[in-house]
Amino acid sequence: MTTTLITGANKGLGFETARRLVGAGHTVYVASRDAGRGRLAAERLGARAVALDVTDDASVTAAVRAVEAGGGLDVLVNNAGIQVEMGDDGQVVAGAAEVTAEMMRRTFETNVFGMVRVLHTFLPLLRRSGAPVVVNVSSGLASLSRMTDPGRPGHAYAGVAYPASKAAVNMVTVQYAKAFPEMRINAVEPGFTRTDLNGNSGRQTVEQGAEIIVRMAQVGPDGPTGGYFDAEGPLAW
Ligand code: NAP
Repeated sequence: MTTTLITGANKGLGFETARRLVGAGHTVYVASRDAGRGRLAAERLGARAVALDVTDDASVTAAVRAVEAGGGLDVLVNNAGIQVEMGDDGQVVAGAAEVTAEMMRRTFETNVFGMVRVLHTFLPLLRRSGAPVVVNVSSGLASLSRMTDPGRPGHAYAGVAYPASKAAVNMVTVQYAKAFPEMRINAVEPGFTRTDLNGNSGRQTVEQGAEIIVRMAQVGPDGPTGGYFDAEGPLAW
């Protein structure tokens, strides 16, 4: 029996990933910063609910205790994320001329420091699993090689905070994967997906976007680690 926790799973890609992994037979914790929204989502999916705000130490510690009491953890999907420079219409409202240290801090607080907080706090539980797996939800906008290639669609993206935070997610992934070779730890790029993150301006459905998250959540001990993937395969950093 595989137990999986997905942060930010009350909606969007996290919710769809939870739905698919419940279908695959995992015991799934829908982690949500709003306990009510998380409970509703979990009820719809036949999953467990746990309150978890990635920016809050006490909240993450309490979530670890609850999951430990429930029997432990095998798979952690670090999915919660924000894109502060994105307007409700899916247009970037703060490019290089407008981005502030405060916007950078808010973005990193959730997308990077939050991910490390969750990883660090769940690490003892994961290490007790026979086959621990971590999926860090990154972005194509994290790729330095893509962002410097004018032929790539992401090249035109003007925001600074979100791509910088996801580039940090990729480096966090690489360093954790080297430190814990007994775990499978990968970064994934879901692709441009219609969710609240981008004012539902994305090109793909959540079913398509969740594909690589679901796949990497199910890698076995012989699967890849320390990599960066989209649904088509490995990506260049
Ligand atoms: P979404 O629908 O806006 O969902 C984001 C989720 O993260 C929500 O459940 C949100 O909770 C949660 N969250 C935000 N801050 C949190 C915090 N401090 N603690 C716990 N949860 C928090 O967006 P999405 O598109 O599904 O995004 C999921 C992941 O995919 C993100 O990491 C995003 O960067 C990544 N991604 C998305 C796309 C895309 O095109 N959509 C492309 C590449 C990567 P609330 O409901 O409480 O706000």
